Amino acid sequence: MNSISEIYGEISVPKKIIITMHQKPDGDAMGSSLGLYHFLLQFGHSITVISPTNWASFLNWMPGCKSVLDYERDTEKANTLIDNADWIFCLDYNVISRTKRMEDKLTNAKAKRILIDHHQEPQTEAFAYGVSDTTKSSTAEMVYDFIVGSGFTDKINKDVAACLYAGVMTDTGSFRFPSTTASVHNMVAGLKEKGLEHSIVHEALFDNFSENRFRFIGNVLLNRMEVFYEYNTALIAVPQADLIKYDIKTGDTEGLVNFPLSIEGIKLAAIIIDRGEERKCSFRSKGSFDVNTFARKYFNGGGHYNAAGGSSKESLEATVAEFKKAMKENSEQLRTYKF
Ligand code: 5GP
Ligand code: MN
Repeated sequence: MNSISEIYGEISVPKKIIITMHQKPDGDAMGSSLGLYHFLLQFGHSITVISPTNWASFLNWMPGCKSVLDYERDTEKANTLIDNADWIFCLDYNVISRTKRMEDKLTNAKAKRILIDHHQEPQTEAFAYGVSDTTKSSTAEMVYDFIVGSGFTDKINKDVAACLYAGVMTDTGSFRFPSTTASVHNMVAGLKEKGLEHSIVHEALFDNFSENRFRFIGNVLLNRMEVFYEYNTALIAVPQADLIKYDIKTGDTEGLVNFPLSIEGIKLAAIIIDRGEERKCSFRSKGSFDVNTFARKYFNGGGHYNAAGGSSKESLEATVAEFKKAMKENSEQLRTYKF
């Protein structure tokens, strides 16, 4: 993989560009993709943003979101665009398999693939150009760096700013995770100077709950959470029946895993959701407990040091039992809490 700086000279030459993100995109995947989209639009490229799957409705407010293709719904149209593309940007994922059903199409595309990502162990041989930096707070921050590095800071408009802000804000837990460096705050200052209205972004993201989703969270915290104080751990296990009862949609469960970390002493929080075809797991930790390794070892997953995920084909009960076994195996690290 060559350095992304090698494409700076080509940015202003009109091309056919595709921007892709990981399946079930979160605020950073969608925000960084649309931020890059609004930046590149100003050079006369023909650009399409493609998500491998559908996404949470709380992302729909983002400027440009309505023009994003859902690969599972618009497969033929997306395939034609991918076949004809010159450049394919790959944002907020480290391995092409994170694009689910798009994997083959992207792997075999004749276009140059360009990576911008902050996950561990990237598949660098699959990309012509790119930047991978696990110390970065978010892919949105890396898109900002890319824009600044290219010398086109003047092209950061309100739409670019709102999308990149949404990405960095959600991936840093509203600027509270240790990944929130001075450069993150410098970036936000830069975006403010370009007209960012940050309160509007916060409201759009956090004050748009459906009543059902709010009651679902109440039910989960009351009835589906177990706290293991001797292991500084809390687990939420959600049966599929709850998802049906409260009409829970893509993205409605986003962020739930963080709630137990607000309990005094809790260092590891986990959620296991029965999605029918599989049990999806999310892990969050504080301080010295490495959930990336934990997710890789026990749940066929991965992610970052303090935020990771995985899955299981076993039943919800069996997955919960596996989690408890894993927790006990890690009791030493879980009991000795270090920031
Ligand atoms: P979340 O818990 O929000 O789904 O994901 C947290 C982090 O873990 C994200 O950075 C995501 O990319 C990563 N992640 C989530 N699920 C998986 C998985 O099944 N496999 C891998 N390799 N990473 C995952
Ligand atoms: Mn991210």
